[in-house]
Amino acid sequence: MENYKEVIECVYDDLKHINDTGKVADYIPELAFVDSNNFGISITTIDKQNFGVGDFEKKFSIQSVSKILSLTLAYKFEGAKLWDRVDVEPSGNPFNSLLQLEADFGKPRNPFINAGAIVICDVLVSHLKNPKKEFLEFCREISNNQNINYNEKVAESEKTSGFRNVALCNFIKSFGNIKNDVDDVLDFYFHICSIEMTCKELSEIFLFLTDDQYTNKKGESILTESQAKRINAIMLTCGFYDESGEFAFRVGLPGKSGVGGGIVAIHPDEYCITVWSPKLNKKGNSYKGMLFLEKFTTKTASSIF
Ligand code: GLU
Repeated sequence: MENYKEVIECVYDDLKHINDTGKVADYIPELAFVDSNNFGISITTIDKQNFGVGDFEKKFSIQSVSKILSLTLAYKFEGAKLWDRVDVEPSGNPFNSLLQLEADFGKPRNPFINAGAIVICDVLVSHLKNPKKEFLEFCREISNNQNINYNEKVAESEKTSGFRNVALCNFIKSFGNIKNDVDDVLDFYFHICSIEMTCKELSEIFLFLTDDQYTNKKGESILTESQAKRINAIMLTCGFYDESGEFAFRVGLPGKSGVGGGIVAIHPDEYCITVWSPKLNKKGNSYKGMLFLEKFTTKTASSIF
């Protein structure tokens, strides 16, 4: 941990005042109100030591980072059958694209683009009696943290502006790959995107994707080793929209970003690290977040390769 701490402090100081060319996401109106100068980092190692700098204890909108959690729960319910509904290929397209769905007969390329995450939400709506309540309970239980909540304002803001997601959900339903009512599925999707967490909380909750499998309170493991490997593999190949190759190339870790400016990255043998900086690059990934992680894995020589 000492080496990680030193590197985090040093890279944080280097990047704190750089000219950040990114832009805060404003296509969801409520997200535009965030202070763009926020910058926080938190690392939790597999032996559960934690270290953070900057705004690592401020809540922010985790947006698509929540797609790892929804995928995890759906995978637990469905096992390998899940891959009949959603593929595991990088899309090479923007996160909200409708383009490939027509040719692929409504089967989304992967669970981390919006189309795929909406199908995952449909799977969860089929399994859960009260999806919003039970999903939150799942997140709280696996992290042993009761302080995880939706932000209703953000969910509402996305509901009134999320025209592409409405289109995606209807389009997929036309192919028969959405089983439930479109409004119910979208309401659930918008809520899980609105979850707020801190960098510290995120670096703790995703320890179940490291080799040292976290268990829930009852001592049951959250995923099998093979399932955790598969989710990491999808994160590595599909976690950063159509910049997933670039992230693997520069950082060398499985990870997932969200348009709130958060990035979670996992070293399966060592740690989970989270960076938050709201200004996004042209592909929708945190500009400083990516830069930070590139420098961090380079200086600590701790990528998976
Ligand atoms: N709620 C956002 C949307 O559906 C999530 C996008 C993201 O973080 O990638 O547009």
